[in-house]
Amino acid sequence: MSVSTYFDTMDYGPAPESDKDARAWLASHEASFGHFIGGRFTLPGAQLDDLEPATGKLLAHLTQGSAADVDAAVQAAQAALAPWQALGGHGRARHLYALARSVQRHARLLAVLESIDNGKPVRESRDVDVPLVARHFYHYAGWAQLQEREFPGMAPVGVVGQIVPWNFPLLMLAWKIAPALALGNTVVLKPAESTSLTALLFAELAQQAGLPAGVLNIVTGDGRTGTAIVDHPGIHKIAFTGSTEVGRQIRERTAGSGKSLTLELGGKSPFIVFEDADIDAAVEGVVDAIWFNQGQVCCAGSRLLVQEGIHDRFIARLKARMDKLKVGAPLDKCSDMGALISPVQLERVRSLVQQGLREGAQCHQVALDVPAGGCFYPPTLLTGVHPAATVATEEIFGPVLVAMSFRTPDEAVQLANNSRYGLAASIWSETIGLALGVAPQLKAGVVWINSTNQFDAAVGFGGYRESGYGREGGREGCYEYLKPIASKERPARSARTPAHGDATATTSAQGGAIDRTAKLYVGGKQVRPDGEASMPTYAAHGARLDDVGLGNRKDIRNAVAAAVKASAWSNATPHRRAQGLYYIAENLSARADEFAHRIALTTGVSAAQASAEVEASIRRLFCYGAWADKFEGAVHQPPMRGVALAMPEAIGVVGVVCPAEQPLLALVSLVAPLVAVGNRVVVVPSQQAPLVATDLYQVFDTSDLPDGVINIVTGHSAELLPVLADHDEIDALWVRGPADFSVTAERLSIGNLKRCFVDYGQAIDWLDDVQGEGPHYLRQATQLKNIWIPYGE
Ligand code: NDP
Repeated sequence: MSVSTYFDTMDYGPAPESDKDARAWLASHEASFGHFIGGRFTLPGAQLDDLEPATGKLLAHLTQGSAADVDAAVQAAQAALAPWQALGGHGRARHLYALARSVQRHARLLAVLESIDNGKPVRESRDVDVPLVARHFYHYAGWAQLQEREFPGMAPVGVVGQIVPWNFPLLMLAWKIAPALALGNTVVLKPAESTSLTALLFAELAQQAGLPAGVLNIVTGDGRTGTAIVDHPGIHKIAFTGSTEVGRQIRERTAGSGKSLTLELGGKSPFIVFEDADIDAAVEGVVDAIWFNQGQVCCAGSRLLVQEGIHDRFIARLKARMDKLKVGAPLDKCSDMGALISPVQLERVRSLVQQGLREGAQCHQVALDVPAGGCFYPPTLLTGVHPAATVATEEIFGPVLVAMSFRTPDEAVQLANNSRYGLAASIWSETIGLALGVAPQLKAGVVWINSTNQFDAAVGFGGYRESGYGREGGREGCYEYLKPIASKERPARSARTPAHGDATATTSAQGGAIDRTAKLYVGGKQVRPDGEASMPTYAAHGARLDDVGLGNRKDIRNAVAAAVKASAWSNATPHRRAQGLYYIAENLSARADEFAHRIALTTGVSAAQASAEVEASIRRLFCYGAWADKFEGAVHQPPMRGVALAMPEAIGVVGVVCPAEQPLLALVSLVAPLVAVGNRVVVVPSQQAPLVATDLYQVFDTSDLPDGVINIVTGHSAELLPVLADHDEIDALWVRGPADFSVTAERLSIGNLKRCFVDYGQAIDWLDDVQGEGPHYLRQATQLKNIWIPYGE
């Protein structure tokens, strides 16, 4: 071929990476693997076949982990826990540092093995996955070193069960185990059945690097092994990355178990291009957003939203760029895209694209010239897609981009947020004011400005809504593996606290007592309950007091609607929110004696104790008024020319169920942190002493809290809780009370995957400032959004 022909075609020659070392490593294990438990490999057992995605050939035999294997791993992790913690932060930092060094020394082997096992181009595993793995161990070695100084009052969670998917097998392992180990936890991890090899190689490297036996245990297997981990009573926390469907199942299975949970789930992330964007840069951005890792990326920019004025030009340039993408052997360094993970995934992608065509989309695909037998699928662009089409709403998890247009920034935000997911978003515009104005409006845990798919160990990653909860990375990620020490010391409530007297409903028709009935508080007004029903309340010594409204499902719905409407509170300045809380404190203080009397009467505590409760409530309101403009985010410094702003944002509408004890202080302790950071709340107050809450209506009325920020529905807590848990417009649930309340809250909140903050029936001394207030509550009241802002030419 002549030089001029080369110039015309611009074809790459093949540039294969050698697989010699990786194949030799497999051969040294006879391509057959057991689990890694207690620092040793077990003999291979019941077999699973691991196939090579690019060829369909058998790569290795793995062992299907049984419940007994999981139990052995948990026991090893339990035995290793105390000595691992006794090493202290510095001791653990040295181990993590050694792991980072070992990953770097074996980088090429790890990258090649990953590409063979997963099908991803070696350029990505070599330049993205493995360097980020090392970076995570270095970064968390640092947090281990700083733990005692930076996280006083917090202890490790204990034994952690971790379940990771197949799209970034080694990187997800690092995201999970680096923070867990650094902070003094021990781990049982299950890799995906189709991509376990790098986890096993890593275990071998950890063994060689002298990681103490039992600190890290790897059990291979399919979903059944995952279930055994989820169900094991010896595990204190589950950290899961994978599909939203399995995330829901795990939430349901762990409900009420006391296991804490982080879920990193699916996404359908928008990629928004404004008319003033640098179009060539944005086109390159799209390539990275959706064709990186064959589109098998939870935060893939899979919904392209282009402003109308440049839409046709942009799509034309994108198609021209697509036609230059090279799909081929994963170990060819010239491949832009490799193979999908499995025939099942290939079929899923194919059928979703077919569905898109049936629903009216037009398809542009790159011609394929690929090795036979592999799971290859071409880069695909679907245009003419309706926002409600299946391909625009379902996570395809493949190299398929759907494109739509928009007219105004408001419309872009609406379209972007028109998803049950909320993992990531990209914004492309040369007008920094526009980009920074849109970023906070997007319901997503990560926002990239003029960039996409940026990851770093120092920057939190995680979703809103059905993309899950919890953050991985940075200081944010540390909190997921720590718990307040005070929580260890809380006594369990012995049994359901009995209500005073008989709380059977009465109706206006029955006794004419309705005019003595304290109403509900909805949208800033006192309203009668829907059924006009009321329930009696009693003094501690048994005398009947006023009735209160008996709220039902409809009342909760109305209260939620009022809270949804009060969304401006989430955008109010922190100073404004602080003023609201101080004002409530001031008005409560003016009526302190009245409240103390009511508390003493309804709970039976002494006058002095009741006064102390009122005083503590006023103090707590001041405390959160103080925090309102001081609970700040951070400016992360990832290794790029740019910063990532970690901004705490309100979760939205939060349902609150208060415990029986300390009715005023508990309510204030739960509501004030939520309101301080911009949430709106629907509160079910203490069923035993609701009059203390209904007395607050006048306090709220004379304060300048906007209507609908705090709504109160009195009634039977056990009946109202499921309604709150089930409601799709409630974004989080805070529940205190009998242990079965926690089970109900966690089990019924799976519909929209609400974040639950519950106490598993353990009473809190609300007077205690460590247990009852502080940043721990504010962290639960917020979700962090990380906005990446690159700078420079
Ligand atoms: P899964 O959610 O099923 O798999 C994730 C991990 O969970 C794997 O290790 C899997 O085991 C394990 N697992 C499966 N079932 C259970 C269970 N009941 N209890 C505990 N653990 C379980 O994802 P898939 O691999 O099946 O992929 C299906 C779809 O999920 C994809 O098409 C994609 O849309 C989405 N997905 C999203 C990811 C993300 O990061 N957001 C990652 C992966 C998939 P094993 O695979 O070994 O059987």
